[in-house]
Amino acid sequence: GTLCKPLNSEGVTRLFESTVRTAGPITPREIERALEAGELRVRYQPKIDLSAAAGLPVRGAEALVRWSHPERGLLTPERFLPAVERGGYMDRLTDHVFTSALGELKSWHRLDDTLTMAINLSATTLRDLDMPDRFESFAREANVPLDRIILEITETSALGDDPHALDVLTRLRLKGFGLSLDDFGTGYSSLVELYRMPLSELKVDKSFVAHLDSDREARIIVRSIIDLAQNLGLKTCAEGVETPGALDCLRELGCDQAQGFFITVPLASGTLDAFLTRWREKAMSLRLVASNVPEG
Ligand code: C2E
Ligand code: MG
Ligand code: MG
Ligand code: MG
Repeated sequence: GTLCKPLNSEGVTRLFESTVRTAGPITPREIERALEAGELRVRYQPKIDLSAAAGLPVRGAEALVRWSHPERGLLTPERFLPAVERGGYMDRLTDHVFTSALGELKSWHRLDDTLTMAINLSATTLRDLDMPDRFESFAREANVPLDRIILEITETSALGDDPHALDVLTRLRLKGFGLSLDDFGTGYSSLVELYRMPLSELKVDKSFVAHLDSDREARIIVRSIIDLAQNLGLKTCAEGVETPGALDCLRELGCDQAQGFFITVPLASGTLDAFLTRWREKAMSLRLVASNVPEG
């Protein structure tokens, strides 16, 4: 009857394709197209300085990749990085993010040439022995000092069972790149890795930061992580700051930097300037609130 009209072969194909396009697994062809057509966008999430008496200034940002997919919509990294990794496209993606972020940082340096940019690296990238030289030449071409660039790695991406990874990390550090251990506290053998890797910074994972306001245990863990980092001579940055209470708590615990939705969501390219104006006002009101709190 009319309810169940048979589809001709073209109809079947179209139905099939549209389903695959919006919900099916991401194909290598789509990734190729994204890389070539510029569908990968980079957002930048500022990191603010908690230690400065000057009042919560922005010190840099972290580059976070997005895929503006014509059929599937805006995709976050968790949705597509596994397919990129499986398809063998991770090095191309990382180079794309790295060079985009360098271009962005170069424009920020007209405002303040001490601002830093952090880039996330995956495990595959750490197996690429040519990567340190390649990153160095990208940075030199863009005329950005290497110590303004921080490479974020995770415990699971970092050493694993790969003998080359430590080599790559050491080369990067010797060149002057910053090296940050991301999501600290969520992997295994944290302390051994911490001891072996030539790090400059440790990032406190958002799963602890999220509970700083309400949970005594979370505060104890974050305090211990910050103390450990300080004793090892590492800087600390907390991710996932969503409330003024968490920010205050981190300041009290001596955390160096903070990032999170309370400060801002990741920003589109070219919008740092506008954010800085907004942030200066917000930071000012936060300082006023803090100084009104009676002591003791
Ligand atoms: P990550 O490096 O730990 O980045 C932090 C994630 O937390 C980001 O998610 C960020 O948008 C989100 N976030 C920021 N502030 C808050 C907050 O206040 N609350 C909460 N709940 N979340 C917050 P995103 O952008 O979806 O990235 C997820 C992960 O994907 C990153 O975790 C990173 O491991 C990876 N990633 C992102 N960009 C790249 C890239 O260019 N290359 C590689 N290899 N990995 C990337
Ligand atoms: Mg990161
Ligand atoms: Mg992180
Ligand atoms: Mg994390």
